[in-house]
Amino acid sequence: MATIIDGKAVGDAILEEIRAQVATSSAAGQVVPGLAVVLVGDRKDSATYVRMKKKACEKVGIRTVSVTLPADISFDELLKHIDTLNTDATVHGILVQLPLPAHLNEELVLNRIVPEKDVDGLHPMNLASLAIKSKLPYMVACTPAGCLELLDRYKIPIEGKRAVVLGRSRIVGIPMSLLLLERNATVTVCHSKSQNLEAVVREADIVIACCGQAQMVKASWLKHGAAVIDVGINAIDDATKKAGYRLVGDVDFEQAKEVAGAITPVPGGVGPMTIAMLLTNTLLAQQRSLK
Ligand code: NDP
Repeated sequence: MATIIDGKAVGDAILEEIRAQVATSSAAGQVVPGLAVVLVGDRKDSATYVRMKKKACEKVGIRTVSVTLPADISFDELLKHIDTLNTDATVHGILVQLPLPAHLNEELVLNRIVPEKDVDGLHPMNLASLAIKSKLPYMVACTPAGCLELLDRYKIPIEGKRAVVLGRSRIVGIPMSLLLLERNATVTVCHSKSQNLEAVVREADIVIACCGQAQMVKASWLKHGAAVIDVGINAIDDATKKAGYRLVGDVDFEQAKEVAGAITPVPGGVGPMTIAMLLTNTLLAQQRSLK
């Protein structure tokens, strides 16, 4: 049976490391790291994610600045808010909670954040830096950075290994594949038009499932002993639950854990790491701003 990769425990350990660093930095008289969280509209799921991020910041001593804006805000008005945060020396990271209401061009909004405060790592400059193995400081997208951290903390070898990334989104799949490539894995990226997925996945020593397809990856797809990082968060009907549903990943966990060498559960795997890496990036941005 596979080692169950405990993202909650690793995430908590990282938060503790950040808390200690923030305390040391504050004791030395340095400016407290600040994260601005921009929430547009009143989507309940977005409000929940924002609340979780702010709570984690509170735990470690990172100051949060909440910018809560109405759903019908104009594009220009929103950009003005971003510009104010861009020039605010007490704000080291800016997070715009996605998705934005349909009338706002997400890409242009994200591009407006100065790359050094782009703690979500979604600015084209940051993505491009990752692609060209830039020597300049840049920010790595939180979820893929969290997946890599899990592999590292569980001492799963990457160099020279075959890695398959299921998904090619800007937020997860693409940066994940670039990170693995940077670490000298042989990387295959699959997507909705890929054929013979099963055969491709069976070649992999490392599988990163980030396609948003509930329990798509079956145990029979996996090479014996493969490391499986399940990014997916999907709600499926479950009459035994009070809410009428439960969350599952992109991997059929119960079966897959009998074949894999190591595997993340959902929930409790990648999710807590995404927040931990957001805080890591915020601290990094504050430290860089001091130099
Ligand atoms: P997107 O919908 O943006 O991207 C999904 C990707 O998967 C696309 O590249 C798509 O291909 C590919 N895909 C879709 N169906 C298939 C299929 N049948 N076979 C192979 N590839 C397929 O999603 P995100 O990247 O934003 O998120 C992916 C999942 O991860 C979601 O479940 C999301 O909820 C979860 N997530 C979890 C986070 C966490 O903290 N744990 C953070 C972020 C996301 P194509 O490009 O061809 O459309």
